[in-house]
Amino acid sequence: MKRVVVTRRGARRWAAGHPWIYQSDVEREPEPREPGVVEVLDPRERCLGSALYSPHSEIRVRMLTRERETIDRAWWTARLAAAHNRRAGIAATAYRVTHAEADGVPSLVVDRYGPYLAAQLLSAGLESCRPDILAALSDVLRPDGIILRNDAPVRRHEGLPQTVEVVLGSVPDVVEVEEHGVRYRAALHTGQKTGAFLDQRENRALAGSLARGQALDVFTYHGSFALHMAGGADRVLAVDRSAEALERGRQNAELNELTNIEWIEANAFDYLRELEREAARFDAIVLDPPAFARTKERVESALAGYKELNLRALTLLQPGGHLLTFSCSYHVGRERFMTMLADAARDCGRRVAVERLLGQPLDHPEILSVPESGYLKGSLLRATD
Ligand code: SAH
Repeated sequence: MKRVVVTRRGARRWAAGHPWIYQSDVEREPEPREPGVVEVLDPRERCLGSALYSPHSEIRVRMLTRERETIDRAWWTARLAAAHNRRAGIAATAYRVTHAEADGVPSLVVDRYGPYLAAQLLSAGLESCRPDILAALSDVLRPDGIILRNDAPVRRHEGLPQTVEVVLGSVPDVVEVEEHGVRYRAALHTGQKTGAFLDQRENRALAGSLARGQALDVFTYHGSFALHMAGGADRVLAVDRSAEALERGRQNAELNELTNIEWIEANAFDYLRELEREAARFDAIVLDPPAFARTKERVESALAGYKELNLRALTLLQPGGHLLTFSCSYHVGRERFMTMLADAARDCGRRVAVERLLGQPLDHPEILSVPESGYLKGSLLRATD
């Protein structure tokens, strides 16, 4: 096995439970510098375990084990089976099977959509294990097809190409799945992420349970929250700027025999301003924007964007109305998110109760020693007057 020697600081990071060792903490790298599985040693040449090695990435090493181990098909099968067992009892046919670092399989995301898998191999080191991983996925999950959604931009940091390929069986363009009694179609080849935003599943059920009267779903994608809210509300306005996603939203509404959703193709900021001008009022509003802060440098401008959205949404609430609001920016922590909401409530002059703090579902585990595994935060708010 090839060997990598890391600094004391790098070794301490792994001792504290974080699997990443940065380029600046690597003292000696293998020659030739090819991606693959390596043995990692501390400066005194004591073994720290086996790891994935990415020669072009700032994250050079992703630790897999605490001992030197052979990382073969059987190893991947055991890790994936353990991750899958932790998902027992999920009330949906679409869910995340592995949440990368948080499931001990760094840079490997696997989402299940009924009998199909959509996976992402997000590091060069991991790519070198591709045949074993695919064989292990077949052993553990027996899928009808596997699609690799390797078109994620982070692959660029690894020197990897952006590709989408079906690597096992066949995978249809859209796959119908079910979550908490709602059916929807996910576009596995072309949709965002791996086809759907699986991390909001439980929050969508919550939105469904409290929807009534007039409801508004901003950043609806293919109708995700709207479909759940349409059961309890008289009318739902579903807003997104993607015509393609909205078209699937319409099909999803049909699939569930729902006729009370209006689909609006618009920029959310403009549309909320328009609703405010019209003095529209809603009993339930969902705000689920994309990540505004993709880097630390963008946090301030992201917070300004989040605040504008939330201020407008709070203004649009009926007395007693609910707002479910989210941020999926890792760099905007929960504390700053809550401060932003407090600022928005103050500026609109309303008394707002925090009824619940919201986060990721159990199939997107958040590991305390790996803060990057937690990114989604939200809150259920209620305008009390
Ligand atoms: N709520 C969805 C996920 C939303 S992801 C779910 O639970 O599945 C963010 C969505 O915001 C994407 O569908 C994207 O098309 C849309 N979007 C991004 N910027 C936008 C903008 N300025 N105005 C309206 N929609 C936007």
